[in-house]
Amino acid sequence: MARIPDAFIDDLLARTDIVELIGSRVPLKRQGREYSARCPFHDERSPSFTVSPTKQFYHCFGCGAHGTAISFLMNYDRLEFIDAIDELAKRVGMEIPRDTQQRNINPDSQDQYAALEAASKFFQRQLALSEKARAYFERRGVDADTWARFGLGYAPDGFSALRDALGTDERRMKLLERVGLFSRNDKGHVYDKFRDRVMFPIHDRRGRTIAFGGRVLDPEDSPKYLNSPETALFHKGRELYGLWQVRQANTRIERLIVVEGYMDVIALFQHGIPQAVATLGTATTPDHAELLFRNAPDVYFCFDGDAAGRRAASKAMESVLPRMKDGRQAFFLFLPDGEDPDSLVRHEGASGFDTRLQHATPLSQFFYDDMGKDVNLSTLDGKARLAERAKPLLAQIPDGAFGDLMRQRLTEITGVGARAPESQTPQVRKRPASAQTQKRSLVRGVIALLLQQPALALELQPPYTFNALRQPGIPLLAELIALIRDRPEITVGALLEHFAEREESTALQKLASQALPGEESLWRDEFLDAMAQLEKQTLQQRIDELLAKQREAGLDDHDKAELRNLLQTRLQTAR
Ligand SMILES: [Zn+2]
Repeated sequence: MARIPDAFIDDLLARTDIVELIGSRVPLKRQGREYSARCPFHDERSPSFTVSPTKQFYHCFGCGAHGTAISFLMNYDRLEFIDAIDELAKRVGMEIPRDTQQRNINPDSQDQYAALEAASKFFQRQLALSEKARAYFERRGVDADTWARFGLGYAPDGFSALRDALGTDERRMKLLERVGLFSRNDKGHVYDKFRDRVMFPIHDRRGRTIAFGGRVLDPEDSPKYLNSPETALFHKGRELYGLWQVRQANTRIERLIVVEGYMDVIALFQHGIPQAVATLGTATTPDHAELLFRNAPDVYFCFDGDAAGRRAASKAMESVLPRMKDGRQAFFLFLPDGEDPDSLVRHEGASGFDTRLQHATPLSQFFYDDMGKDVNLSTLDGKARLAERAKPLLAQIPDGAFGDLMRQRLTEITGVGARAPESQTPQVRKRPASAQTQKRSLVRGVIALLLQQPALALELQPPYTFNALRQPGIPLLAELIALIRDRPEITVGALLEHFAEREESTALQKLASQALPGEESLWRDEFLDAMAQLEKQTLQQRIDELLAKQREAGLDDHDKAELRNLLQTRLQTAR
């Protein structure tokens, strides 16, 4: 994906009012200089979610959610980064810079979307004309509303129905082939890929058709399901069938149910459970796991109860573990022999299916069931084996309560502890703050002040000697100051956006969300004072260098002059 210029993002954020944006989705209450609300990202009774008009960013003291207008749209409206930018740009009437836009949405892919849409319309028309295809859906209780919602269709028998209807010239033939609707035989002859199948268009997160799944009508035919091949627009490992429809049907998605087949998704919808999605003939990938949790806090995986189903569940579990941040839950539901969600919901109705979901196995339990399935836990050997198996997977769980509990459970079962990730081991014993940590907290303090009031950076006069200081945090401070000088009007939110993809991001967000003690009017003095100290430390660092050189190699005339000057300056500033 082409990068959108930082300057554009800054402008966009400068023109966006985050209070207005969030206020149009979440009821905000004014409280002093900030606004507060019950957090839209976690369940709570008293409001701990705040939006700051001056910083142009939001923060939740309950769950730690925080960010800018862009990240709010990504998390609340569940948009991709580029789509969030697009949405904000539309709101304020800005145009995404042309070259970026062209690299993202090139005219060629526009044509491909159009070709897929035309094919989808063609299949829908054919469904209306085909008695046996309509009978297939009617037998399964699918009503006309649901047909329309999912854009269901039918690909006629024969080798050239679609080709004859849409492949009117060479260019369109090429397009249809590129989006995966044609096959080609050994002799180079091109023919319809989908023949005599009911058709399920696959939509992307913006509702555009990007591929198709086709199911046979005659149970003798094979393969039972056929999907479009991977194309420039369609990567099956990153898409979920039905997600578009789920997002249309729910203002807030409490849970997602992952099933295997298109008909399962549709049947659940039809019976009043509009939260099901299906992977597209693949195991659950880590991309899927992220996409699922970005849309809903609770995810239920449904599998057949047989050995193949168990294997698929293990795979899904492995993809999910690294995404188990606090606040997310995963469950596993194994279906009775010979049943699928489609047949179950038709027999038992929504409430029966719901009851099964309520009794689904939580990830924590499934994990240890799965790890210990062929291990004898009454022997030391067995315990050791379980521990060996579990540890690498446990290490992938992000920091938080869930990971702690899972590791604790391993100790309970085996008596062997899994080590917490590095960052979680308790801090080194408390000792009096060394000169080093004092210096670090000075830099940290300066950065914290800038993240409250970026304009403070404008008080400094270049050149800045502190840049030469060899201390952690100094390069970051220099970068922040340069950014602010470059764009004097920048808000805290926009500043944070510059670091969104960087490892410093979390630390910066934390500093920015602090309410600093003390009077705002005193911040300037505090800032200038700290900067003066950093300058002094830089001076001392250079003096020490020269003195060391004097001892080891001796100084030349130039060095001597410099040292004299520095000592002089130190004397003056000490006063
Ligand atoms: Zn929250």
